[in-house]
Amino acid sequence: MSYTFATVRRTELGPEDLDALRACLHDERLFRLEQLDGLGETWPSPDDLPACQHAQAREEVLTALAAAAQQVLTDVDAALSRMDAGLYGGCHLCDRPIPLASLRILPHARYCGPCHQLKESVSWRLKNAVS
Ligand SMILES: [Zn+2]
Repeated sequence: MSYTFATVRRTELGPEDLDALRACLHDERLFRLEQLDGLGETWPSPDDLPACQHAQAREEVLTALAAAAQQVLTDVDAALSRMDAGLYGGCHLCDRPIPLASLRILPHARYCGPCHQLKESVSWRLKNAVS
């Protein structure tokens, strides 16, 4: 399977839309940085952990939360880079513009609605494939 990535993405976003979305991305970035800081403060050191299932479950939840926050932070930084490069707002798979309404909900979106669903479907099938 091969993918073709276009080098120029069309965008239907005006300067005001981009400014508003950039502000949202910066807010999201700050929130995720604070979230990661907070998780770091509540992260138990191995010495503090009692040998019980609750501690293990708590550590798993904290690990998952930190991974999710880090992923969003990575996506937000990538979106800001695309914006700086003038490539923001295009779907990474089909190259069509991502609707403004979708970007207002998820400013760091990489895919349009149909492509996002396709990716989720493929990921689910790969995750649940019987080998
Ligand atoms: Zn698409």
